[in-house]
Amino acid sequence: ALKAGIVGLPNVGKSTLFNAITQAGAESANYPFCTIDPNVGVVEVPDERLDKLTELVVPNKTVPTAFEFVDIAGLVRGASKGEGLGNKFLAHIREVDAIVHVVRCFEDENITHVDGKIDPISDIQTINLELILADIESVDKRIERSRKNMKGGNKQYAQEVEVLERIKESLYADKPARSVELSDDEKLIIRDLHLLTMKPVLYAANVSEDGVTEADSNPYVQKVREFAIAENAEVVPISAKVEAEIAELEGEDKAMFLEELGLAESGLNRLIKAAYRLLGLYTYFTAGVQEVRAWTIHKGTKAPGAAGVIHSDFERGFIRAEVVSYDDLVAAGSMNGAKERGQLRLEGKDYVVQDGDVMHFRFNV
Ligand code: GDP
Repeated sequence: ALKAGIVGLPNVGKSTLFNAITQAGAESANYPFCTIDPNVGVVEVPDERLDKLTELVVPNKTVPTAFEFVDIAGLVRGASKGEGLGNKFLAHIREVDAIVHVVRCFEDENITHVDGKIDPISDIQTINLELILADIESVDKRIERSRKNMKGGNKQYAQEVEVLERIKESLYADKPARSVELSDDEKLIIRDLHLLTMKPVLYAANVSEDGVTEADSNPYVQKVREFAIAENAEVVPISAKVEAEIAELEGEDKAMFLEELGLAESGLNRLIKAAYRLLGLYTYFTAGVQEVRAWTIHKGTKAPGAAGVIHSDFERGFIRAEVVSYDDLVAAGSMNGAKERGQLRLEGKDYVVQDGDVMHFRFNV
């Protein structure tokens, strides 16, 4: 499963949010491939289409697709120099696909702020600086190495150095690597560096429990939004404390509580959906009477790769896929209906899977 790491200064609400995530957590029996670790919370990705497909097919079982959140505690000022958990912390960030950066936007005299005042932009910059410093170290090392290799007249190294110099310039100006415009080829060249500030970021603006409905008029949240726009990041206002309460409820009680709060859905759901969008992920479905299930793929994945998400045998032995789009299936009312309308397509190994495709794979064992 894909992973987002939760980071932030001490006392901003990370543990509260992470506890809400594990509390709301997925039935792990359905996700044997997910990491089992106290610092990892597995959540199901909410998707209305899955409910609709369940109504249509009436399967024995419905399984949403999953997403992991990793609690990366311990970042303090000086981490890049080894303070606190320092390098260990940074190594954990290297492994995640996206970063959820929790920022304190709530006031509470009883909860001390490490810097003595609520200032989300300064908090963000403190953490970003540590990540930037760590990246500067990686980039400098690589530039030095590639310059040596370049002496043999190798064009590939020359190009790498050119890209890295641009990133270096940005980092020295306190800007993350993701703010540098790069072509797909250029991104590929530097991919193996796993730069921390290249990862997509989502700021979770933690607002006070009585401010959840007007979170957008919270001046701290507005500041975070302005900041995020400038560096290609997203913002999700959330109240970690409220999420912790929501996570303890189920079904009707949960719906009632959300309604009382004036919320259309939980902040956690919005956070999961935003992370999914941020990572450029698609969902495709399998819809049999045994099981209706959602699966996650990256945009641009071809049919055999999508089959491989279910099982590597499906990818290896891939023959073709029967595909109907979600909209066509719902409009036709059933798989047979879609077939009669000629909307059930046979697709081969070069087919690029679309978001919402309902797929059935044929493969050799
Ligand atoms: P962490 O150090 O970032 O993991 O922060 P915690 O989740 O442990 O939160 C620090 C303190 O702030 C705890 O006492 C939380 O109950 C409190 N806290 C977290 N979110 C909120 C909030 O939205 N409002 C208020 N008033 N307190 C909060």
